[in-house]
Amino acid sequence: MINVFNPADGSVVGTAPDNSVAEVQAAITRTCDAFPGWSRKLAKERGDLLRRWFELVRADRLVFAELLVRENGKCLSEALGEIDYGLGFIEWYAEEAKRVYGDTIPSHAANAQVIVVKEPAGPTAAITPWNFPFMMIARKIATALAAGCTMIIKPSELTPLTAYKLLEYARRAGIPEGVFEMVTGNPKDIGQLFVSDTRIRKISFTGSTAIGKLLASACGNDLKKMTLELGGNAPFIVFDDASFDDAVAGLVSAKLRNSGQVCISPNRVYVQDAIHDRFVAAVAQKVAAIRVDQGLQDEFVVGPLINQLGIDKVAELVDDAKHAGAKVVLGGKPHAKGGLFYEPTVLANLEDEMRVAQTEIFGPVFAIYRFRNEEEVVRRANNTEYGLVAYVYTRDLGRAFRMSRNIEAGMVILNSGSVGTASIPFGGVKHSGYGREGSYYGIEEYVEVKYVLMAGLDK
Ligand code: NAP
Repeated sequence: MINVFNPADGSVVGTAPDNSVAEVQAAITRTCDAFPGWSRKLAKERGDLLRRWFELVRADRLVFAELLVRENGKCLSEALGEIDYGLGFIEWYAEEAKRVYGDTIPSHAANAQVIVVKEPAGPTAAITPWNFPFMMIARKIATALAAGCTMIIKPSELTPLTAYKLLEYARRAGIPEGVFEMVTGNPKDIGQLFVSDTRIRKISFTGSTAIGKLLASACGNDLKKMTLELGGNAPFIVFDDASFDDAVAGLVSAKLRNSGQVCISPNRVYVQDAIHDRFVAAVAQKVAAIRVDQGLQDEFVVGPLINQLGIDKVAELVDDAKHAGAKVVLGGKPHAKGGLFYEPTVLANLEDEMRVAQTEIFGPVFAIYRFRNEEEVVRRANNTEYGLVAYVYTRDLGRAFRMSRNIEAGMVILNSGSVGTASIPFGGVKHSGYGREGSYYGIEEYVEVKYVLMAGLDK
């Protein structure tokens, strides 16, 4: 058994199975055996089952949210937000199942018809991280099942309890064994079993770029399709014509979400010269008013980091920046509460060469940089191996368009700190991965296009 700990106090919240290799293989076989039946179901039947699952989970959203707080550490309002976000995908794809349209193309041959159909890719597998234990799983499973694929999933061993609860509710809704399977155990072994099984036709992975690359190389062996949602190093750019208060509020809410442990968390905040000092002071003032605490309460609080590795990484990055000349405007050290709590921190006087600028921080640290002009900030924002999201605050329409064109990222968010919902294509470029999740683009990742030529129609 795997013990699952509450990051707020170290207590054991529950346990998850430590599946053996044989058990994982058996679950993969069930996933593959269920594919023909599931893929041949009417799209409406698949959609109806997803809808039923959506309704059962929605009725118990508080039960899910409280469990999520206990195993992940985020506060209750955020956990409820995550449940609603995840439910949005189940609801969206319950409907989208019926809209996997094909095509007809004017024929190139006489007496013939060209038809293009989209077929489910096959049995699939997914691996998800601990920072959104509910939403990540809901998003992947709902898309796969809607498309007619079956899926086996390995949630993070740090947060498997919400995942198993989702599975329990899926069974209750009538989604059968095989169609949706779940395993936990040794991540490396399970990953290896997924990528090496030629019956699995697609893998969707969300996690670090390092593990994503390992899996992608292995998937190359039998040309398995992949969706990769990997790390980020999001720039958050504030021009001096921006709505100042909106930019401060957008930054603070985007950054403190899940204590900064989010792939789309603003990692490098670039503020234009004329407003830089005032902006730093305003951010520090707003952040200082937010409490740090365990998450089972109504108020928004900054929770603990997920584990000791997480807190060590944040502490090292902040200490490195301090030694290199950063100004600590707020925080800057582990919180007096001890354990896995770190002080919300605002750093200024930063340079692009510092490690904090080049590394995904994954903690409640605002790293603020000064810039002079548009050309310079575009060059600096793009100077990273990542390309997931960029935030830009400006009221100049021409500049907004230019920025959206010139930033290398899968998503550019203008004048907002919030990326979106089930209806948008979420994903990155460069080392942030490839493929999209959500919206009608998401389902394309789970289908194969088949061209059918019907010739000889005059006979
Ligand atoms: P991680 O270490 O890569 O883990 C992600 C998943 O991979 C977990 O389920 C993990 O299992 C599993 N794993 C670990 N080693 C493996 C191996 N050798 N083979 C197969 N699977 C393996 O990432 P993390 O630290 O949990 O998550 C944070 C990272 O995810 C950040 O870089 C973040 O930016 C990224 N992320 C990206 C997105 C996006 O949409 N682009 C969203 C959220 C997070 P265990 O947890 O059980 O060890």
